[in-house]
Amino acid sequence: MILAILQHIMLFLLGAAISSFLSALAFRIYQEYPVRKMLFQPSHCEKCKTGLKWFELVPILSYILQKGKCRNCGKMISPEYFYAEVFLSGTFLIFSILGVPIINYFVVTMLFFISIFDLLYNQVPRFVMHAVMIMGVIWFLNRVLTGSNSHGFYLDLYFPVVEAFLWAALMSFMNLIKKSFGFADILTILFIGLVSEKMLQPSISFFYGALILAIPSIFFIIIDPAWRKKYVPFLPFLAIGYVVASLAPDGIVFTIVSL
Ligand SMILES: [Zn+2]
Repeated sequence: MILAILQHIMLFLLGAAISSFLSALAFRIYQEYPVRKMLFQPSHCEKCKTGLKWFELVPILSYILQKGKCRNCGKMISPEYFYAEVFLSGTFLIFSILGVPIINYFVVTMLFFISIFDLLYNQVPRFVMHAVMIMGVIWFLNRVLTGSNSHGFYLDLYFPVVEAFLWAALMSFMNLIKKSFGFADILTILFIGLVSEKMLQPSISFFYGALILAIPSIFFIIIDPAWRKKYVPFLPFLAIGYVVASLAPDGIVFTIVSL
């Protein structure tokens, strides 16, 4: 019991730490830092360049204690960083409590990383997207060659890939009518297909992602039609959809879909 609680706490903290590292990394990639600086330069305020003290590096907590501002110059820190930390650490905690397989932590971390780019900069750098796709292909080939997947059942191996291709085709088709999805969105659903170990996982990810995105969007468009023209990043919603799909036990998957 104590060990289990300790594990939950450790994973929660790990999620917060990874989130904090990847957010900073995304910022540095976007700002085109040289590789050495990108990985090894100590954290600092981007405006006044003051180095951050250890207590300013505690994820989630330091943001709350400093009320979202730099201690030195008072520059506001984007709240997106805070939400990102809450999202990833919260997801790791829930995954830990529900005993979700390790691969899901890996996938959600990848989805999280590309979502940061989409959320903050409205685009994902090509090489980041390529790296994610290569990891997905390696993971898939590994399962094909070793015949190992958690259920030992072929449908769980190939079905999600077929599903993902169908969604990708639908998204490309919708783009012909009205440009709605970016190239990164389409690649990401294929990535989810490659690493899914459950039937319908890509479909549920897409369905819930789109649903969670659609409800507030419709609300905003009704209030102010100008919202229709705004860029809405889809990847963060796809990441949330994937978390929902990971939590649904196999039986429930069919129940939800048949509702
Ligand atoms: Zn500052």
